[in-house]
Amino acid sequence: MAKKDQTPKIYFLDVTNRDGVQTAKLGLSKLEKTLINIYLNEMGVFQSEFGFPTTRHEARYLEANLELVKIGVLKPIRLEGWIRAIVDDVKTAFKYVPNIKHLNLSISTSEQMLKGKLKKTGDDVIKEMTDAVDAARAMGAESIGVNAEDASRTDLSFLVKFGLAAKEHGADRLRYCDTLGYDNPFTIYESCRALAENVGLPIEQHCHGDLGMAVANSLAGAKGAIDGGQDAYINTTINGIGERAGNADLLACILAVTKSRGFAEKYQLGNPIKLTVAAKIAEFASYAFDVPIPINQPGVGANAFAHASGIHADGVLKDPENYELYSYKELGRGKPKFVETGREIISGQYSGVAGFRHLMGKINVSFGSREEANDVLELARYANVLSHKPLVEDELLFIAKYPLIAQKILTLTPLVLETM
Ligand SMILES: [Zn+2]
Repeated sequence: MAKKDQTPKIYFLDVTNRDGVQTAKLGLSKLEKTLINIYLNEMGVFQSEFGFPTTRHEARYLEANLELVKIGVLKPIRLEGWIRAIVDDVKTAFKYVPNIKHLNLSISTSEQMLKGKLKKTGDDVIKEMTDAVDAARAMGAESIGVNAEDASRTDLSFLVKFGLAAKEHGADRLRYCDTLGYDNPFTIYESCRALAENVGLPIEQHCHGDLGMAVANSLAGAKGAIDGGQDAYINTTINGIGERAGNADLLACILAVTKSRGFAEKYQLGNPIKLTVAAKIAEFASYAFDVPIPINQPGVGANAFAHASGIHADGVLKDPENYELYSYKELGRGKPKFVETGREIISGQYSGVAGFRHLMGKINVSFGSREEANDVLELARYANVLSHKPLVEDELLFIAKYPLIAQKILTLTPLVLETM
């Protein structure tokens, strides 16, 4: 029998639906978040941090997406919720989202945050975190990640103590958060390596771009974790959307791991990534967030494969490898796009059934009866109210295919108003 490969590996854990939506001035509708989970799954991303189980307006969306897991639509991706590492949050999470299976529990660890924000000692923080881990396990969490917020400004010996306490209480991973984007590739390598060696848990790299190094730091941190003998889980967001200067871009991280000089020879992915989904997921996130993809964005920017200078154009025509590290086709680019230049029927919150049937017919969806078409139209109207823009084809197809799940995702009645 072939021996199982024990070499530590790199996994991707996308946080667009959590860190991405925390971005000032930006947001996603619950249906858009669902589509992102579907695309991440199609791409082969290991885990999606799909939202906030302690936030009431997320509860139905989270439960509905867990139903999609159950019926095999979101498989094999893992959906994990982000909460604070306190027992109250664990209880609330299981109250609002009883079927939640995977959690990341977050608490600050740096002296700056302990003194300046929490007004707590290091021992208090460790106690709160381990109590929360115990509670999460007792309530049925299957996997638990523990996040050290502001880890890059935390004394390493305290981080090791924190990590060991998490491990002792059964946590599965330790998230090293470079919350302020303070690290550089050299420092994060050392920290992640030391944590892997001294804590003995897989290490997540959560990097921000305040100094323009989020992707480089993710790669270096992953290398540190693997050199220290542990799996690495790189946290990403689509198009790098995230708080302030953003997070590590999903596609750029995948390209860095798989295409950069000599890296993939030793540092490999834990599961295959379908790169051809890259263009679709980037375009959808750009549309949903209403943030254009920068012209020079790695892989998916309008200029990523554009050549104008004579020498480059000549060279790339003779052999693309002269001036391109990877091909546009690998990323799912190059397909013709259908743009309506004549009459256009669009689905909106005030659409009627005739126009809707016409629109759905164009994407090969037909309805058995007028009533059925009306039901799906009703859902599409609600989806439009929530996203304020025409639905994309995949959103319409999703609603038509899973109307009952869509209904849950689109229902935003406040669950309880305790003071009224
Ligand atoms: Zn973050």
